[in-house]
Amino acid sequence: MTIERTLSIVKPDATRRNLTGQINARLEAAGLRILAQKRLRLTREQAETFYAVHAERSFFDDLCDFMISGPVVAQVLEGENAIVKNREIMGATNPANAKDGTIRKDFGETVEANSVHGSDSAETAAREIAFFFSDIEIVG
Ligand code: ATP
Ligand code: MG
Repeated sequence: MTIERTLSIVKPDATRRNLTGQINARLEAAGLRILAQKRLRLTREQAETFYAVHAERSFFDDLCDFMISGPVVAQVLEGENAIVKNREIMGATNPANAKDGTIRKDFGETVEANSVHGSDSAETAAREIAFFFSDIEIVG
């Protein structure tokens, strides 16, 4: 087992419905520790930079509009196999395809407004954590 860190975001559809605490409880119950957390409103430029990997996708503009439509809560999570574990707790991208008991199944509204983001690899996690947090903000 490897102790990893991953970047999580509670998306605007979830902050709007006051679900941050319920989502955090699921992360913690699964053994992930929240080492850093901040609530902020992304600018469009920040959203475009964060999701630059999807710049050519048809849903890119809508996705960026959605991500700036309200506050987000960015988090650094730590735990055994945290990257894959968080993806499991999140569930499939489209809530309609997500397994029972996952965050997206229980809280997601649409394939776009799917309540949470989670890094998909170690390289992505390192880049995404550095996008939101400096080292002194991450307390293990
Ligand atoms: P995330 O990166 O947010 O953790 P993911 O890795 O499951 O989600 P990606 O393929 O990276 O999914 O897509 C990034 C985000 O773009 C999705 O979480 C969702 O909000 C949005 N998205 C993905 N596919 C679509 C689509 N077909 N239509 C609209 N929005 C989409
Ligand atoms: Mg992704």
